[in-house]
Amino acid sequence: MSKKILTVDDSKMVRMIVTSTFLPFDCVIVGAADGAEGVEVALKEKPDLIFLDITMPVLNGIETLAKIRATPEIAAIPVVMLTAESDGQRLGMADQLKVSGYIAKPFKGEQLIALTKKIIPLAPKPPEPKKP
Ligand SMILES: [Mg+2]
Repeated sequence: MSKKILTVDDSKMVRMIVTSTFLPFDCVIVGAADGAEGVEVALKEKPDLIFLDITMPVLNGIETLAKIRATPEIAAIPVVMLTAESDGQRLGMADQLKVSGYIAKPFKGEQLIALTKKIIPLAPKPPEPKKP
C-alpha cells in the first residue's frame, strides 16, 4: 500500500530533494514550509512518517514536534528530525519528545531511504499500467 511522507522544511530545496529521493518508491510526498503549516498538513493528510526540520519560522521543529505529540490524531506518527550542526542543544529536547531518528544536513538520499525502511515498509513504485 502506498505510503505518505510529510517533509516540513522552510528550505524549498530540501523539500524538493526529499520528494525526488522517494520518486522510485510507492509513496506520496506532501510538504509544508513551516511548523504551523506542518501540523495543519499532518492533521489533514495523516502521513505515515514526518521529516522535520529544526530551524524554521513560525514554529521551530522542536515546538512543532511538541505540538504533534500533544495532538491525539497525529501524536503517534513517527518523526525523523533533519538537523544542522547549530541545532546541538535542541536535540535533547527532541529526544524527550520521542523521535524515530536524526539525519544530519547535508544528507544523502540513500540515508533517508535507509532510515525510512527501518521505520515503515517502503515498496518500489508499481509499473505504470500499459496503455491500450
Ligand atoms: Mg530550516
